[in-house]
Amino acid sequence: MKVPFAIPECGDDEISEVAEVIRSGWLTTAGRCARFEEDFRDYVGARHALAVNSATAALHLGLEALGIGVGDRVLVPTFTFTATAEVVRYLNADPVFVDCSRDTFCMTKDTLETAMRRLSDDARKTVKAVIPVHFGGHPCDIDSVLEFAHAHGLRVMEDAAHALPTKYDGRVVGTFGDVTCFSFYANKTITTGEGGMLCTDSDEIATRVKAMRLHGINRDIWDRFSTGASWEYDVVAPGFKYNMPDMAAALGIHQLRKVEKFRRSRQRIAEIYYEGLANISGLILPACHCAMEDHSWYLYMVLIDFEATHNGLTRDTVIEELATREIGTSVHYKPLHRMSYYRDSYTLERTMFPNAEWVFARCVSLPMCSAMTEAQARYVVESLKEILS
Ligand SMILES: *Cc1c(COP(=O)(O)O)cnc(C)c1O
Repeated sequence: MKVPFAIPECGDDEISEVAEVIRSGWLTTAGRCARFEEDFRDYVGARHALAVNSATAALHLGLEALGIGVGDRVLVPTFTFTATAEVVRYLNADPVFVDCSRDTFCMTKDTLETAMRRLSDDARKTVKAVIPVHFGGHPCDIDSVLEFAHAHGLRVMEDAAHALPTKYDGRVVGTFGDVTCFSFYANKTITTGEGGMLCTDSDEIATRVKAMRLHGINRDIWDRFSTGASWEYDVVAPGFKYNMPDMAAALGIHQLRKVEKFRRSRQRIAEIYYEGLANISGLILPACHCAMEDHSWYLYMVLIDFEATHNGLTRDTVIEELATREIGTSVHYKPLHRMSYYRDSYTLERTMFPNAEWVFARCVSLPMCSAMTEAQARYVVESLKEILS
């Protein structure tokens, strides 16, 4: 049985909506993008939801709107995808890397404090923001991150690329920080092929992001080209080209309607994994400190514990063994402090991030997506048991 790591799930609704966009003759940003934004805003309960062409673009625009620039520092996890940190460099600010917990793989108050303590008094004063990631779809400890941010006068931008839909305190993630960014990349929990969304409750941030996502023009392209509107526009800053085309928004409108259905399907896969893989020596299952229903289940990441396995298996040999059984896996992530650019630019040592090192040495992400069948999940369970026995 073949089990791909993840595949997107699109249906006839998506296909006919995209076909309609093509027939309409207007392929770029217009009414469907506006509708996707409205639907998203309502779903998340944010005052503003602004569609862009990737989560990376959303993170860039968010930091820009928060006023991050040269000489500033931003706290980012080391245990994340490079996009979380690279956007800090786009603005010529510097990332300060934060270790994760061994438990939820998110940053914590302790790891944030450790990162701050490593800075000189002068450097500490230049820290302006923090970017928590809701790793794998498990909510980070938002209250303690907000408390830490408040104590140090920091802005908070959530990287929620894994976290649609994740709930915290009974509320969908999207409005806890000053800015929250979502990804609709092909393998994320809903997809527009490429795409992202920035949510904020701040009118000021929204106004800046609206201009900067389209060349720094002070009105939306849709306003500009809709009939009756004047041709007149101004450029208020050297903005970017980050708008979401209607071709992508057409997918998003229908994907968003299925967001909870997709989540439930992934939860079912997680339940099969938890049940089938319980009490296996050498295997640590992911912690779930929230209700199963509050987790997006974007990832199901297990840890292969070397000390407990007796047959010399390593994380990499487990991945190879799964691959020979046609089971796709992934490693999320090689920590950023190990990447040559960050390591060399900021003289980062592995000993500075003991938890990320510990997790990275052991982690394997098992197949997880809404299109997966229960039979496929059981096959993964049986295969892993066989490999580890
Ligand atoms: C996927 C991802 C991103 C980037 O998303 P894009 O839409 O591909 O730009 C950012 N952060 C994290 C944690 C991600 O997993």
